[in-house]
Amino acid sequence: MSAAAPFANVAVIGLGLIGGSVGLAVREAMPDVRVTGWDADAGVREVAAKRGLAHAVPDSIDDAVANADLVVLCVPVRAMGSAAAMMAGKLKPECVVSDVGSCKVSVAEAIATALPGQTVVPAHPVAGTEHSGPEAGFATLFRNRWCIITPCEQSDVASTERVITFWRELGATVETMAPDHHDLVLAVTSHVPHLIAYTIVGTASDLEDVTRSEVIKYSAGGFRDFTRIAASDPTMWRDVFLSNKDAVLEILQRFSEDLTALQRAIRWGKGDALFDHFAKTREIRRSIIEEGQDDARPDFGRSDHLGDAAPED
Ligand code: NAP
Repeated sequence: MSAAAPFANVAVIGLGLIGGSVGLAVREAMPDVRVTGWDADAGVREVAAKRGLAHAVPDSIDDAVANADLVVLCVPVRAMGSAAAMMAGKLKPECVVSDVGSCKVSVAEAIATALPGQTVVPAHPVAGTEHSGPEAGFATLFRNRWCIITPCEQSDVASTERVITFWRELGATVETMAPDHHDLVLAVTSHVPHLIAYTIVGTASDLEDVTRSEVIKYSAGGFRDFTRIAASDPTMWRDVFLSNKDAVLEILQRFSEDLTALQRAIRWGKGDALFDHFAKTREIRRSIIEEGQDDARPDFGRSDHLGDAAPED
């Protein structure tokens, strides 16, 4: 094992976009580390083995986790508990269990309940694309992206440090945060924006006076960027909204109040109020670019009018 690698044997459970990327990234960044992968779907396991997402992809989860020093659960949020339960009694006592779930309070609880006594260090790499499945992963997904570690009751300081080192080795910038604060921050920055994208794309496709072909043809006016987010995996996002219900509902309440204020400003011709609001939001965009979180070039730096936008969670 290289000096920097904090775990010699890593098991990745769930070999879709994130699990596949973890496997590839570990193989590239920590070549001495042995990666074992497992997915509930035999077809996914076959593709994962062909793509080399792990050194070995056994048919049973028992074989996948038996020798693991770190298990990374990369399944949909509401499948975390059942996936963890499948490995109960099969792990080495010193094995650290982590995950990549987009919500932290519910996931930490589900894993801790399924694996009492095991060390658990939850994590969330804030990186992704609108693609899913075993073909979607790539080794550089986490490079220069945030990974938020949310220690819980079953975490200890030394294991948390090892998980932090693990993500740094994969190229991520790591921050630690309380699980409930993570869920509120991500509700604002990721979950509610996804819900808005799902809503506006649904609204546009249901309009009677504007044809579907017109919506597609003139999509570069802004709609196109919503469609990319609204193409995100339905299972993942159903689970996120049901698992981070309280924080999402709190932010949605604030959002609808702000939307009503803008609606009123438009109705009563309050141009100054609209201008002030838009000037404030433009500043937020500037800060995001200054912090290197997005591309400053026009149209998100698309190389041509049909190029992909930068990936995000
Ligand atoms: P994905 O591409 O759909 O991969 C999930 C994989 O897990 C699928 O192959 C799925 O198989 C498998 N699976 C489901 N239940 C399982 C179980 N009980 N045991 C073993 N395998 C199981 O999804 P993803 O985008 O990688 O997301 C995985 C996790 O990462 C989620 O918790 C999500 O919140 C988190 N995350 C996602 C993003 C993102 O942008 N996508 C970013 C950060 C974090 P089937 O398809 O056959 O069910």
